[in-house]
Amino acid sequence: MIQAKRLEADAKTVECEMEVPWGPPEFGWRGHVDLANLTDKVVFEAYHSKELEFRDVKAMQAAGYATSLGPDWRAVVVAIDATDVTRDDGFAVRPYPVNVAGLRARVLETQARVVTAVALGEWNPDDRVSDTPKHAECQACPFSSVCHAGWTPPAPQDVVGLETSFDALRIVQSDLSHAEAKVADLKRMRDEYREDVREYLPLGVPVESGGVVIRRSEVAGRVSVKLADFTKAGFTIPSELEPFVSQGQPSERWKVDTV
Ligand code: SF4
Repeated sequence: MIQAKRLEADAKTVECEMEVPWGPPEFGWRGHVDLANLTDKVVFEAYHSKELEFRDVKAMQAAGYATSLGPDWRAVVVAIDATDVTRDDGFAVRPYPVNVAGLRARVLETQARVVTAVALGEWNPDDRVSDTPKHAECQACPFSSVCHAGWTPPAPQDVVGLETSFDALRIVQSDLSHAEAKVADLKRMRDEYREDVREYLPLGVPVESGGVVIRRSEVAGRVSVKLADFTKAGFTIPSELEPFVSQGQPSERWKVDTV
């Protein structure tokens, strides 16, 4: 977005999330490039990375957009580290130019393999970027359930580095429990102190003592309807109420212990 504003300030015509058609027209496939400078015919594809390293898959993606847009188009991939942001210095950005002409043959060959696979309704497992859906690209890919159909996670003892993740989870869980206990303790103490001073605080009147001003006011109780109980009691949710009903996401319960 910042880059788009800068380009616009330089009188460039830009488009964010620009649709880029590719593949046979009958398939109607659309990619979306992060930013396109239509004046100079440059596409920018950004990704987040603390290391700001170059990523060849992003270069292929950007080269794919440029190739689809036409022979004059250039491409840039932009690594962004937004984990350290300051008002004055902003955050770290490292652009890498992409040699679209140099990658064009690989791009076209890859696209042709995808088109063939879709047309035939079958795909070559060797074409996958990874044989596990845990790969970063696959995690964000809408075809993962097809590509990795039938995938079963390896046995825990065969996973390299699993013990490190387990231990990190144990430590975070323990820190979290201590923090929650601390919050509960602070709330209890706060409530005790409130009781100590309550009788000296008439409702709505600020009272000062020792440089501290406290005002106690009353907040009306929230009105809520327990829809789950309502339906369990045999009632049906009226149709007028349905737009206001939201279904919470299913959650999980984890128990992390040491042996
Ligand atoms: S899931 Fe997506 S990114 Fe991963 S191999 Fe399959 S098509 Fe490629």
